[in-house]
Amino acid sequence: MEPFTSDRLQLPRNMIENSMFEEEPDVVDLAKEPCLHPLEPDEVEYEPRGSRLLVRGLGEHEMDEDEEDYESSAKLLGMSFMNRSSGLRNNITGYRQGPDGPCSLPSGRTMLVCTFVLVVAVSVIMVIYLLPRCTFTKEGCHKKNQSMELIQPIATNGKLFPWAQIRLPQNIIPLQYELTIQPNLTTMKFKGSVEIKIQALKVTQNIILHSSGHNISKILFTSVVSKQEKQVEFLEYKFHDQIAIIAPEVLLDGHNYTLKIDYSANISNNYYGFYGVTYEDENKEEKYFAATQFEPLAARSAFPCFDEPAFKATFIIKIVREEHYTALSNMPKKSSVQIEDKLIKDEFFESVKMSTYLVAFIVGELKNMTQETNGTLVSIYTVPEKIDQVKPALDTAVKLLEFFQHYFEIDYPLQKLDLVAIPDIQAGAMENWGLITFREETLLYDNETSSVMDKKLVTRIIAHELAHQWFGNLVTMQWWNDLWLNEGFATFMEYFSLNKNFRHLSSYEDFLNARFMTMKKDSLNSSHPTSSSVQSSEQIEEMFDSLSYFKGASLLLMLKTFLTEDVFQHCIILYLQNYSYASIQSDDLWNTFNEVTKSLDVKKMMKTWTLQPGFPLVTVQRKGKQILVQQERFFLSTTDSGIHPLDSSHLWHIPLSYITSDCKAHDCPYVALLDKKSDVLNLTEEVQWVKFNVDMTGYYIVHYADHDWEALIQQLQRNISVLSDKDRAGLINNIFELSSLGKVPLKKAFDLIDYLGNETHTAPITEALFQTDLIYNLLEKIGELELAKRSVNRVAKLLQQHIQQQTWTDEGTLSKRELRSILLDFACTHHLENCTTDAMKLFQEWVDSKGTKRLPTDVMPVVFKVGAKTEAGWTFLFERYGSSESESERNKILEALASSEDVRKLHWLLKASLDGDIIRSQKLAMIIKIVGRSFAGHLLAWDFVKENWSRLIQKFHLGSYTIQSIVAGTTHLFATKTHLSEVKMFFEAQSETTARLRCVQEAIQIIQLNIQWMENHLKNLPLWL
Ligand SMILES: [Zn+2]
Repeated sequence: MEPFTSDRLQLPRNMIENSMFEEEPDVVDLAKEPCLHPLEPDEVEYEPRGSRLLVRGLGEHEMDEDEEDYESSAKLLGMSFMNRSSGLRNNITGYRQGPDGPCSLPSGRTMLVCTFVLVVAVSVIMVIYLLPRCTFTKEGCHKKNQSMELIQPIATNGKLFPWAQIRLPQNIIPLQYELTIQPNLTTMKFKGSVEIKIQALKVTQNIILHSSGHNISKILFTSVVSKQEKQVEFLEYKFHDQIAIIAPEVLLDGHNYTLKIDYSANISNNYYGFYGVTYEDENKEEKYFAATQFEPLAARSAFPCFDEPAFKATFIIKIVREEHYTALSNMPKKSSVQIEDKLIKDEFFESVKMSTYLVAFIVGELKNMTQETNGTLVSIYTVPEKIDQVKPALDTAVKLLEFFQHYFEIDYPLQKLDLVAIPDIQAGAMENWGLITFREETLLYDNETSSVMDKKLVTRIIAHELAHQWFGNLVTMQWWNDLWLNEGFATFMEYFSLNKNFRHLSSYEDFLNARFMTMKKDSLNSSHPTSSSVQSSEQIEEMFDSLSYFKGASLLLMLKTFLTEDVFQHCIILYLQNYSYASIQSDDLWNTFNEVTKSLDVKKMMKTWTLQPGFPLVTVQRKGKQILVQQERFFLSTTDSGIHPLDSSHLWHIPLSYITSDCKAHDCPYVALLDKKSDVLNLTEEVQWVKFNVDMTGYYIVHYADHDWEALIQQLQRNISVLSDKDRAGLINNIFELSSLGKVPLKKAFDLIDYLGNETHTAPITEALFQTDLIYNLLEKIGELELAKRSVNRVAKLLQQHIQQQTWTDEGTLSKRELRSILLDFACTHHLENCTTDAMKLFQEWVDSKGTKRLPTDVMPVVFKVGAKTEAGWTFLFERYGSSESESERNKILEALASSEDVRKLHWLLKASLDGDIIRSQKLAMIIKIVGRSFAGHLLAWDFVKENWSRLIQKFHLGSYTIQSIVAGTTHLFATKTHLSEVKMFFEAQSETTARLRCVQEAIQIIQLNIQWMENHLKNLPLWL
């Protein structure tokens, strides 16, 4: 699966306490209020609502629209919401107080009544709490998906449920499923019937499998020996999504049996399971569409099954559909039979052996374009009106399929491969075997409105999903703890295959960016080992994070560089061959490497990377011809005494690489394995400078002694070409990260980027802008506008010539075009040069032509953003959003709409996207992230998340990538103690599971780091910035 990320995750740095925010949060204040008499006539009930208080009870007071507007205006004016809520709190206190003064003593009668009421209330709460959602265990109340050992769970009918664990027992395995689904897309319900051939591996009488949200009408059991079909009893245990079938006879070891389950269910209205969507076609007619998204845990909601990746089986899928729809599934269609008037039953060929999360089917009005390659029919499907946008995807898919078959030396095993653009899907794409689903913007390409970045996105995602057909589909992780084996490999192969086949797309720049981003996340205390133990659904959802994807891919890149490309390829071919159609663990991968590398223990080396969180900081000290290298964990952790970087308990086996000022092409880069805390490397001669981690292919950060940093800074001033653009970007990244850690003064980091005027490549400029933009954003959010402006001016001066050279066209190499888009965005955001005037002129010409004049696609986002700043421009763009047939264009428009400074418009956008009618909910995370970054919207975005938290987790599931992105996007620029306690308290008030989520822990740590960074840096910034 490819979680959709529209831009680079901004994990922030820091900031200082601002006196504007130095108030205790509301909830704490309330707790201190001593004289509230429960159930007295003037009873009030308090709950935090957004950043203000909602008062309920007698005289209920909700905010009316005027007050909402006041809130919005206040935000726009940059007022602290805490100041505003303290104003409200004063009103409340006034309301609450009796005529006798602030705190009259209660009477004896009141005390008695209160005590009685309290006892009754506590009893009722206990009963309510324990009854519906709990099962008694040794540890007390057991809630859904917690991994405690149960004494005995209770089934829905009150009987004892015979299985207490989240994971299914290993005594039964499925061999084959025959599944018939009959959806009704108008009523949003479906009928299902599944026949499962199973085999007993141990003697048992209970068959435990997954089922969620099904009305099961009948279960028949047949023994292959007796051949007698018997209706059987079953029990349901909803907290684990399990049913237990009580067999009429003891199942014998090695014998086969058949289950036939008839059921019905609702077609899901969120993005999981078998879900339905509506969309408008080009004639504004409402259309229905149904698709599946099973990874990780939703196959069980479409049909009863053994829903764990290791339970591989074959699948025969049959779909009953109305005749104007097309049905697709993993395999080619075997037959189509009319079964009733206007009802067709499609049957698909039996699948290869695969995991349940890879099963897929789709019913909708579709058109396709097809091409045959090496015995496989590759098709791109879309809703009919967008069929003219599929050709680039078809060419790309065919080319990459051929590449992967050749590179892996294993043919793609199916006769067909469908890539389908789904009108609404939460993930970026999903690799279902033979039937890959995509967002429209990750598969379709419109010549008029798709930019060079859109082209790269489409190519990348296709590559990722095709790589999964081997890594994930053919060879699958046994359990979700090793998700990185799927996602790390697919992500690595995505960049690797683009580099081989579409070199002009410069995808290495994106991979470099992704590594920087991931290391930032991995340096926090909330990080986790790439292979981590997981049980509950939230824990499994949380594995879909950048560590599984990008750290996994980065480790493979490091290993490939160390072993050489040929050896690496040999190892992964062997791995795929050894484990085709099987389920594996990380050790199986490393054992295969060891088979090839023999004397080098790859397993021992890589375990130091996959079983430990974080990554090393390598410190380099040079004395004459000797280089002392040391390792410790690069650890951004806050303590009372400040940032605490040292963590000596970790040791990595680090493949070091380095170059020097006197490098000769034939012996550079030098390579050495550092498998202890420190070591000494010897140079043949004294040199001017050394640079470690060549091309940033190693997953570590390097710190140099003062004079070595100075030598590198001077080299960049003199001549940049002796270092690659990856190395230059790496130096910028490392020095800014080291300044967060307190190892290097921030001023030195700015000194290093002073060479930027001479920079010729995109990656270093992008990295410098990313780092400085973060500082700008934080300074701006706490109201240090003058300092924020000075930070921009300093960078703007360096990039002035670059900005002046940009044209408003689509000319140049892809990398240059991308740089143009980034530089003009920077210039227009900060009103540099004539940027906004030029952009506005283009926008106006486009509006005057009623949107028919072609805008250069690379600069379109900037032009739209500038245009959206005016009322008329925003309205024109919004109307265009409704009528455009190009998802790429709609995305650019939405980004511009969300960049508005009008808080009412932002609030409307957020709400509309949560509702999902006018703006699809798949866009919500992107909108929240953009709004959360802006001065006008960052408090609003957080308010919105708090107010709508329960709806958000209903739509996107607790722990999911979308929720991770929403939490990070709304909190990462907070830098005050007030916000810190508010964020903490909000999540703690939800549930223990919520407060424990990694993304919540990460958000809290980032705010702490922001606070600390500001304490350390703010007073010095004016002196040198
Ligand atoms: Zn994936």
